[in-house]
Amino acid sequence: MNIDKKVLLLNNSYEPIQIIGGKKAIIMLLLEKVDLIEKTNSFICSEKLKLSFPSVIKLKKYVFIKIKNIPLTRKNILSRDNNVCQYCGKNSKKMTIDHVIPKDKSGKDTWTNLVSACSKCNIKKGNYLLSQINMKLLNKPKKPSHIYHMQKLVKSGNALWKPYLFMNK
Ligand SMILES: [Zn+2]
Repeated sequence: MNIDKKVLLLNNSYEPIQIIGGKKAIIMLLLEKVDLIEKTNSFICSEKLKLSFPSVIKLKKYVFIKIKNIPLTRKNILSRDNNVCQYCGKNSKKMTIDHVIPKDKSGKDTWTNLVSACSKCNIKKGNYLLSQINMKLLNKPKKPSHIYHMQKLVKSGNALWKPYLFMNK
């Protein structure tokens, strides 16, 4: 049993707070600070105790959380765009960041103006506006919400988290 397996921590209001390590989650359960909402098929066993390994836990008391903005970095832009060129849809290891409205046409460094682009598309686009050279964006670039990193983790497993991260279609 891997005790480092990640656990989704919810506020008392069911609002997702953060992803924590399994060890911390178990300590919170044993201290009765949280309720077990979803469990995995694994167990933690000791002489006195048999406990289902948690997947989602909820705080017994509501805590006020100040939501942090996701920093606008090259890494986070590439992650938002899944390393896919937002013009041609190709996936490349050598991805660049493109200003949709070029800097010399007063384009800003913002979530909605920066996208990942392969170097070929970036060179083709140059300092033009999309309308000038007949190129289109595959997705409208958006600022990711604070639960975005948690949603990314769901794609690599943890289907139990989906209803709590607004991912049930
Ligand atoms: Zn491209």
